[in-house]
Amino acid sequence: MEARVAVAAGDGIGVEVMPEALRVLAEIQRRCGHTFTYEETLVGGCAIDAHGVALPDEALALFDDVGVLLFGACGGPQWDNVPAAERPERALATIRKEFDLFVNLRPVRARKSLAPVLPVKERIVGEGLDFVVVRELAGGIYYGEPHGIEEGPDGRRGYNTMTYTEAEIERVLRAAYELARGRRNHVTSVDKANMIEVSRVWREVAVRVAEEYPDVETNHLLIDACALEVVLRPSQFDVLVTGNLFGDILTDEAGALAGSLGMLPSASYGDGRHALYEPIHGTAPDIAGHGLANPLGMILTAAMMLRHSFELTEEAQAIDDAVDKALEDGFRTGDIRQDGLDVVGTHEMTDAVIARLDV
Ligand code: NAD
Repeated sequence: MEARVAVAAGDGIGVEVMPEALRVLAEIQRRCGHTFTYEETLVGGCAIDAHGVALPDEALALFDDVGVLLFGACGGPQWDNVPAAERPERALATIRKEFDLFVNLRPVRARKSLAPVLPVKERIVGEGLDFVVVRELAGGIYYGEPHGIEEGPDGRRGYNTMTYTEAEIERVLRAAYELARGRRNHVTSVDKANMIEVSRVWREVAVRVAEEYPDVETNHLLIDACALEVVLRPSQFDVLVTGNLFGDILTDEAGALAGSLGMLPSASYGDGRHALYEPIHGTAPDIAGHGLANPLGMILTAAMMLRHSFELTEEAQAIDDAVDKALEDGFRTGDIRQDGLDVVGTHEMTDAVIARLDV
């Protein structure tokens, strides 16, 4: 097949892991006869430095035209003093909002081979965990109005608004149920219905939508209880669906189950043809520039792109299997270091994956 992909590596380790994912894709192209055409653009701190804005119009227009954006990560201490609305990370928020990418899929896999390095006990991981967090991405507290910081008699007051309409809740829940039907037919809806009104609406909509999917088992958890269950009994989960803020926090927590934030991919889409693929990690300023970053989250993100945007299921699976084999064969970057095994760099880890591609 032939496909165009807009590519933005971003900042920090984004520029280190992106070329590695493209190397894996190049091998897939070579073996399977596909042609992927990459159109690179600047998004994030690098775009501020080059053009004065984190999301230049050209980048937005390119994504609009191409429809598929493979993204690395953006942000870093160099841009910490930029006003909040112009920060590199807002570029992503704008892309998500502009194209109404309301579904953010974050698969969490605890691979059995990594059990010795996980902060949770091996018995919790069992034969390996596999669940997906569906995070609502285009609404909630990150976008709610009003928000701001104002001066007051007791000092400054910061405020944000968490808001969801029934329609916004319903569409992301439906995406979760459709996903569960292709998996183990179980949905856990997560809210804070005992304390906040927006979650009461979420819960009521979730109960109603669940009735339309009698073949899928549903349970409802409060976010605080869910945070505990994710580390105590994660094997109960198949598809977890929740709002933007809760999903943001839960998926970082789930990073501990996968061994590292550097292991986790994500895909975001809406009802249209646009999709954004990005690893969940940030720019890791503490290790950036040294070739130490774990490229697996980025590589698995590229696999998600093959699966969801191009329906190249076999190729995506081959990448996932090659990652498993590289880990089983003892390859470890610093973030998943294990006693008795050498630590490899970003490039060597990718070499290990490419050498194990069987497609
Ligand atoms: P981070 O994800 O960059 O790093 C957290 C920790 O995980 C660090 O110790 C880092 O070294 C480690 N880590 C992350 N990815 C790794 C990888 N692939 N390999 C090895 N180790 C890895 O989060 P942070 O430190 O909170 O944020 C750093 C910067 O990234 C900030 O400017 C933040 O705003 C930005 N950020 C961007 C995104 C994004 O672009 N989507 C997401 C999160 C954070």
